[in-house]
Amino acid sequence: MIQTPQPHTGSYYAATANRSTEYSSLKGEQTANVCIIGAGFTGISTALFLAERGYKVAVVEANKIGWGASGRNGGQMIGGISGEAKLAKSIGREGEKILWDMGWAGHEIIRERVKTYNIDCDLKSGYVDVAIKPRHVADLQAWRDQLERLNFPHEFKLLSKQETEESLGTKAYIGALQNQGNGHLHPLNLCLGEAQAAASLGARIFEQSPVIDIEKGLKPRVLTSKGSITADFVVLAGNAYHFLDAKLRGIMFPVNSFITATEPLSKELELSVNPNDWAVCDPNYILEYYRLSADKRLLFGGRCNYFGNDPNEIKRRLRPRLLKTYPQLKNTNLEFAWGGTIGVPINRVPQMGRLSENIFYSQGYSGHGVNVTHLAGQIMADAVAGTFERFDMFAKMKTLKLPGQHTFARQMVALGMMYYKIKDSL
Ligand SMILES: Cc1cc2nc3c(=O)[nH]c(=O)nc-3n(C[C@H](O)[C@H](O)[C@H](O)COP(=O)(O)OP(=O)(O)OC[C@H]3O[C@@H](n4cnc5c(N)ncnc54)[C@H](O)[C@@H]3O)c2cc1C
Repeated sequence: MIQTPQPHTGSYYAATANRSTEYSSLKGEQTANVCIIGAGFTGISTALFLAERGYKVAVVEANKIGWGASGRNGGQMIGGISGEAKLAKSIGREGEKILWDMGWAGHEIIRERVKTYNIDCDLKSGYVDVAIKPRHVADLQAWRDQLERLNFPHEFKLLSKQETEESLGTKAYIGALQNQGNGHLHPLNLCLGEAQAAASLGARIFEQSPVIDIEKGLKPRVLTSKGSITADFVVLAGNAYHFLDAKLRGIMFPVNSFITATEPLSKELELSVNPNDWAVCDPNYILEYYRLSADKRLLFGGRCNYFGNDPNEIKRRLRPRLLKTYPQLKNTNLEFAWGGTIGVPINRVPQMGRLSENIFYSQGYSGHGVNVTHLAGQIMADAVAGTFERFDMFAKMKTLKLPGQHTFARQMVALGMMYYKIKDSL
């Protein structure tokens, strides 16, 4: 099925992007050392690492740079790789340090790039995991103990119920773990800045160029309707928007998440809801997450059982949830609303592997993609260069295939949401 190229979704990010990109579409027969399919964080991060190492890189994107989840997400830079317990089991005890370092590597990559390439993406430190139930407080205590034990270099603190209420202006939580190592940013502007950096180092980027096939072989050939790229290596980075390889689509759940952005808050309201400018994330599976934008809007997100992209419908569904946490915003207008799709593997472990000797893929970061995609870019670039140490840790993990994922995708998502709603309520 060939997809028709689409413009950016009507998000707050698209409306406040630093620039609009006009890279040409792919035409004619071309060559590259590495051809990357998909210009989200995974694809662009890989491209930048490879361009820095002197590879001749081409990125082929069906729509626009950052069009997928990377340009629409909550902008929360959260440490850790999801599915760590499963990975740890397969790596063994000595792997704890490797996993720990990998869990924070994406943050360092982002911070370094923002500095090196002067990327204006509102990057800030400050984040809290909040607790709703006593078992969440126990989880946060364990997390705090681990940060202590492994000498986490950034400030962190367990907050009491009262401290949480004072810090977040809501009675919704019974505790929190504040962590200055995490943070938040404008994801589309980060992705655009990284793409610009890669292009400045010689990477060629093609937009509005859906890839329709890959011919495997000694030199794989990536085909669009009007052109092709023959390369030594191909990296597939289409994640939950991927429509090329049925096997890759069938090994993770596409989960929808939605965000609404209020109008800019008055100083008084800003101080009443988030005086420290922290990103906030709750521990539920049907979770809520929010933060202030640079122009002091509350960007409030949540997963829900909806498959459309009607902004009014998204606002209608998110508004009651927002007001439950922040009744003080009852007279505040919601100006933007949009949604996107997250790739969630059943075991939550990010999926990296090979479709053949010279075709690699990386996908399925659950809700940690801002961080982990940047690590994945480094791991993909290492794999192209012939270093497989970290790649193999992921590649050897068993992936579970979801039966009927294509035919019954909506029903399965709905069932999954119901299952997790029950789990959240326990
Ligand atoms: C609403 C929402 C909120 C989120 N919030 C957070 C958060 O706060 N923190 C966090 O860490 N993570 C969050 N995530 C997850 C995170 O955004 C993703 O994990 C991450 O952006 C995935 O990046 P990616 O590059 O792998 O995929 P994407 O950004 O989805 O990019 C894939 C790209 O591949 C292109 N493509 C697909 N198939 C083809 C083809 N055949 N030919 C050419 N191009 C193709 C698509 O057009 C798309 O641009 C959120 C996700 C969503 C949807």
